[in-house]
Amino acid sequence: MPDQKSVAVLGGGLAGLATAVALGSADYQVRLFEARPFLGGRATSYPLNAADENSPTIDNCQHVLLRCCTNLLDFYSRLGVRDRIRFYREFYWIEPGGRVSVMQRGMLPAPLHFTGSFAKLKFLSWNDKLGIASALLALRYEYGTRTDLDRITMLDWLREKKQTPQAIERFWRQVLVSAINEDLDRMAAVHGLQVFYLGFLSRTDSYEMGVPAVPLGELYAEDAWREYPAVNIEQRAAAQQVRIENGRAIGVIVNGECITADAYVLAVPFERVGALAPGLAVDVSSFSHSPITGIHLWFDRPLTDLPHATLLDRTIQWMFNKHEGRHIQLVVSASRALTEMSRGDVIQLALRELKEFFPHCGELKVERAHVVKEVRATFSAEPGLEDKRPQSATAVPNLFLAGDWTRSGWPATMEGAVRSGYLAAEAVTQAFGSAQRFLRPDVQR
Ligand SMILES: Cc1cc2nc3c(=O)[nH]c(=O)nc-3n(C[C@H](O)[C@H](O)[C@H](O)COP(=O)(O)OP(=O)(O)OC[C@H]3O[C@@H](n4cnc5c(N)ncnc54)[C@H](O)[C@@H]3O)c2cc1C
Repeated sequence: MPDQKSVAVLGGGLAGLATAVALGSADYQVRLFEARPFLGGRATSYPLNAADENSPTIDNCQHVLLRCCTNLLDFYSRLGVRDRIRFYREFYWIEPGGRVSVMQRGMLPAPLHFTGSFAKLKFLSWNDKLGIASALLALRYEYGTRTDLDRITMLDWLREKKQTPQAIERFWRQVLVSAINEDLDRMAAVHGLQVFYLGFLSRTDSYEMGVPAVPLGELYAEDAWREYPAVNIEQRAAAQQVRIENGRAIGVIVNGECITADAYVLAVPFERVGALAPGLAVDVSSFSHSPITGIHLWFDRPLTDLPHATLLDRTIQWMFNKHEGRHIQLVVSASRALTEMSRGDVIQLALRELKEFFPHCGELKVERAHVVKEVRATFSAEPGLEDKRPQSATAVPNLFLAGDWTRSGWPATMEGAVRSGYLAAEAVTQAFGSAQRFLRPDVQR
């Protein structure tokens, strides 16, 4: 096509891949450059021991989504891998000692669909539950109407709503620290309200938890791109610098070679932007990181037949059953307390805690253990940050930003990253005078 525009996308995480898939479906010629030898960025998988061909492939950390992640699901559909996400209707909560409660939807319409199972949760008192119900009613009204939610913390909001300490610890903290990867006293309230509004109150199925049934890297494997011949992906291709002259981007140096395109999309983490495009005035000084720690344990026999569970009152927040109850993955979000600990100590702590939830754990033999500390897992969603997140368009008219840290309308999640990619693709099409829409709307009531 003679007037086909070319776009260079720098970064093969979900934001860059989403930009590529959107533009590739809209007659743009896309070259995507990823520094590492695999795609997916922070949502990826790799062999535990690359030198051993029998080594298991693990995700850098268990990634889950909710059915309200409309853009992420659209992205998986575009790549033809939507059926590789397995959805669960049950949320299991386990107390130390092993008592299990289950939250799932019943027959009532939204937002009352949890009423039956919520009433039966054993780890909350009636007083806790009445307080939570009244806060959820307020939340439905305040989300989208109250203007100070980015200036106060989630903990401020919960105290304003007179939540009991047990409701805060065992309900709100348990759900939100994992969803936003930040503590309640550091997280802007707007994000906490968004999670509950979209995930738990909007539709009866929007809370369903999606867990990839294959290693994350397989979701973006070569086969998935056959439908997009206009997208060319190069791995082990680190961009060194975007050249800007007379207010326009004129090329990008990749592995020493200057690549030119009509437009450029920087889809790298916020801490990389300054070095890659020194001429671009993007202020990232307000951003800081929040860590996530994943712990993989392989046992000689099954630990549990539950597919997953959230573990109350301890350091470990989530347990995922990766394979027949023998390969277990544990996740700790906002895991600052673990980042300084040795890997051996983290494993000991995990085993100690697991014994409290699954008393027979002590009888099982640990065959292998592995700890992944992602110190730069996500940005910290602190109050006041929303206004500082940049839009896709920059002061350089043919240079755009994508990434979970840009102003996607969501916190740092896979959905946020894909939204940012679609928004960057929209901004590219607009710059070339043929504006197209890729962003899917949030779930509606
Ligand atoms: C441990 C962990 C657990 C998580 N759990 C969840 C979860 O359960 N659910 C959820 O929704 N989200 C989760 N997240 C968040 C989610 O993974 C991220 O928000 C999302 O993947 C970010 O995508 P991105 O494309 O914006 O950035 P990235 O994934 O960081 O992608 C940026 C890419 O740019 C590449 N790059 C950097 N510099 C260059 C260069 N110079 N040239 C070329 N390429 C370059 C990098 O290698 C990387 O591939 C988790 C994150 C972590 C770390």
